[in-house]
Amino acid sequence: MAKAKNLSLGIDLGGTKVAVGLCHGDEILKKAIFPTQASAGFDGVISVILGAVEKVLEGRSIKEVNGAGIGSAGQINGATGEVIYSPNLGWKNAPLGGSISKALGVPVRVLNDVRAATVAEHKFGNGKGLENFGNIFVGTGVGSGWVINGQLMNGTTNSAGEIGHICMDPEGPLCGCGNRGCLEAYCSGTGMENYVKAELKKGRKSLLGELAEHKLENVRGPLIGKAAEQGDELALEAIHRVGTYLGIALANVHTLMNPEVVLLGGGMMALKKFFMPTLEATMQKHILPVAAGAERPLVREARFENDAVLLGGAAIFA
Ligand SMILES: [Zn+2]
Repeated sequence: MAKAKNLSLGIDLGGTKVAVGLCHGDEILKKAIFPTQASAGFDGVISVILGAVEKVLEGRSIKEVNGAGIGSAGQINGATGEVIYSPNLGWKNAPLGGSISKALGVPVRVLNDVRAATVAEHKFGNGKGLENFGNIFVGTGVGSGWVINGQLMNGTTNSAGEIGHICMDPEGPLCGCGNRGCLEAYCSGTGMENYVKAELKKGRKSLLGELAEHKLENVRGPLIGKAAEQGDELALEAIHRVGTYLGIALANVHTLMNPEVVLLGGGMMALKKFFMPTLEATMQKHILPVAAGAERPLVREARFENDAVLLGGAAIFA
């Protein structure tokens, strides 16, 4: 009887927080967020997830739920539900899906978090009905998920979509992955902040010096946005730089993949009014004309913000 309601659980497992939602289609009936406590190790994190599940069920039986979909940070083996490698969680070959399934007694699927968000956009959001699209996340890091011929793309070693680590300049700034000049080193929140910090260190005049109380560690994305609002040259330059590099990368992926559209989401979108014109103009300049196609937008904002990963996980069993 209860299954007629088609309830499912969506779990967003990140390095700092776990968000669990009891969902009915694209509607979140109840949500709980807890600190991941990654330092407590695998079993500790499993306990946090199970505690959050208990909270959202609110006395309902787990039998009312079709299954649980987990979007996790890191490289995931979708077939086994294992987290192959996740630096954020400090895990290698961790049997996440199996452990949660055993504890809850319902089917569990595990996906990479950006790919889970892509499922949410495909099923309920701005990728609905599309056969070919990319979903790019630009936040602390930069990642993407792809639907090609109607199917989510995984790649041979489950790492498809790592757009944050394509090389824009081999002599460029150092990236967290150890290479130089990765897209993420330019366009992530951290990449943008690092650029501003380096310019301030050189003695560049900017409102940001004062706004950050002359402490480089206070130079964060929202502060750069605040300075940009006041017309600060350095802040605007740093944000336009994001638009330029992202525009080149997206022109390249359009030329390579020929998608209907590329969706954009993540914390960087808070600054979209400053960088989108640059991004779109840069794309138009570098894209292969046949890939640009007719009069259609090349980029669009994703529908879901913070709940995308959770909804995508739940969508697998919706
Ligand atoms: Zn990298």
